[in-house]
This record gives sequence, C-alpha cells and structure tokens, in this order.
Amino acid sequence: MGKQLVIALGGNALGSTPEEQKDAVLAASGNIVSLVRDGYSIVIVHGNGPQVGMINLAFELAYGQNQNVSAMPFAECSAMSQGYIGFHLQNALQNSFYANGMTTHVSTAITQVVVDRNDPAFQKPTKPVGLFYTEEAANAIAKEKGYTFVEDSGRGFRRVVPSPDPIDIKEKGTIRCLMENGDVVIACGGGGIPVYREDGLLHSVDVVIDKDKAAAKLADVIAADTFIVLTAVPRVAINFGKPNQQWLSRITVSEAQKYIEEGHFAPGSMLPKVEAAIRFVTSGAGREAIITSLENAYQAVTEGGGTVICAD
Ligand code: ADP
Ligand code: MG
Repeated sequence: MGKQLVIALGGNALGSTPEEQKDAVLAASGNIVSLVRDGYSIVIVHGNGPQVGMINLAFELAYGQNQNVSAMPFAECSAMSQGYIGFHLQNALQNSFYANGMTTHVSTAITQVVVDRNDPAFQKPTKPVGLFYTEEAANAIAKEKGYTFVEDSGRGFRRVVPSPDPIDIKEKGTIRCLMENGDVVIACGGGGIPVYREDGLLHSVDVVIDKDKAAAKLADVIAADTFIVLTAVPRVAINFGKPNQQWLSRITVSEAQKYIEEGHFAPGSMLPKVEAAIRFVTSGAGREAIITSLENAYQAVTEGGGTVICAD
C-alpha cells in the first residue's frame, strides 16, 4: 500500500440539497483522483451536520402529521446520512475514476464509533441538534422524553445532546481490508454512529461525535501517515478575521497548543480541527496533519501548502 491518508471533509461544504451535494462531491473528486493516481491510499470521513438535521426534521414533521410514522432516533438518522452521503461520494468518485481510465473502486463502510459510557461529556449535553421549538413546546417534550433543551442564539429552543470522545472505531479491520484491496474508502461519516459496550454488546446512543475527532481517531487506529482536514479556508490563521491576521504554514504541536491557550481558534469550528490534528500527531511517531481547503488538497499533500502541524 502507498502512503495512507485520512481525509476529513466538512459537512457544510456539501451543501443542503441532493443537487448541491452532488455538485460539491464532483468538485472534490478531482483532487482525490489525482492523489490516487500518485499512489496514495485514501479514507474519506465526511461531516453530516446539515444532512442529519434534514433527515431528523423530516421524521419529526412526518411524526407530527401521522403518529404511525416512527420518530427516528439520532443514531439511526446518522446511519441514514452515512448511506446518503456515502452513495453520492461513491458514485461521483467512481465515475471520475472511470472517466480517467482507472480501475480503482470506491466503497462506503457504515461505521460505528465506540464511546465510553463514563465519559463526563454524557453529564453535559452541548451539541444542538434538530428542530427549533418555542419554550413551551420544548418544556413539554423535555417532560415527556427527558431531553435537554437550550436557547440557541435567539432562534428558539433546541435539543442538545452530549458529544463524547471517540475511543475506538468498530469497523477499523474492515476499513483496512478495503484499503488493502486498493479501494478508496468512505468511513466514519458524520463522526460515526455512536455506540458503547456493555455486557459484551454494542448499544447505540443518542449523542453526536465530532467528525474531526472521529477522523483523527480513525487515522490513529489504522496507523495512517497523514491526517488531512479539508474545510472552507486554505490555512489556519492566528488573529483570524482581524487586521493583523496571519496565515500559518508549518507549526509544531507546542506552538498549536500555545495558540489554543491564546484563544485563536473558534470553539465549534477551527478549535476541534486543531485539537484533532494535535491528537493524531502526538499519537505516533512521524505523523503529520494538514488543515487546508478542498481546492488545495492535492497541492497541499504533494508540494506542501495549507497549515502543517508536526511533532515538536
Ligand atoms: P467544517 O464544515 O469544515 O467542519 P467549520 O465551519 O466547522 O467547517 O470550521 C471551519 C471554519 O472555521 C472556517 O471556515 C473559518 O471561518 C473558521 N475559523 C475560526 N477560527 C479560525 C482560524 N483561527 N483560522 C482559520 N479559520 C477559522
Ligand atoms: Mg465543523
């Protein structure tokens, strides 16, 4: 196998309708095809924020109209989003390989990501998901189902779920087999379907795992060479959005940690990406992480570019 790359692809970049998503995926394929042609083995981890929200909403609205429709738990919505987004990526990438006369195959692994039931994050739901409700409606649902609601940026009340750390990737062996077969693999979509182990069995749970953290964990457990986060900006900046903004090209883990302490990375957007990159780089020798935009992916890997996070 060639050098192994785990690529985390932002969910927001995929648009919010099937048509937008197809276009976005097509735009991503060119870079991936070039990397495969150069001999890289690739796993893609996509986000699913807008898509899983849409699926969840569809079931909630349908349930409101007709009680025969089952309300759909978040884990199941997440599984559906892995299938829906996986299919688009699988189809567009496959067609790009065909168009370039390449025999590479693409496969999607429905992936369960293991969390620890004792993770303190379970006691503190932080991640807003699904529909917006009035305070009254939110209180009624909270009473009926035991959900936690918070007021979300003046837009109404939203359910919040815990966001525990990923501790293992259940399908890691399957993913490696597919890579060894030469496939481009799509895995851990949306951070994976959250499961915990109890009495020797896996149980799904209604929480959301951060996609960048799950991707870094996958990169670690399959011993990838490089972890790449593709998002809307070509590089990570300090003083982001200020007149003295400065794009970073290569930083060590200690420098990244210093910038985190100084508050340069927004929580919920850039911070989890930098944290995920640090986790991967410190999890094994010789590992590097790159944060860049989709358009720069090929160039960043082959010629340098983007922000590289390396060991001290
Ligand atoms: P994704 O959907 O790829 O997860 P996010 O919107 O969650 O993307 O996070 C990426 C965004 O973080 C960038 O587009 C940028 O607007 C924002 N951001 C916040 N802080 C920084 C920073 N210090 N440097 C660069 N981008 C930053
Ligand atoms: Mg994000």
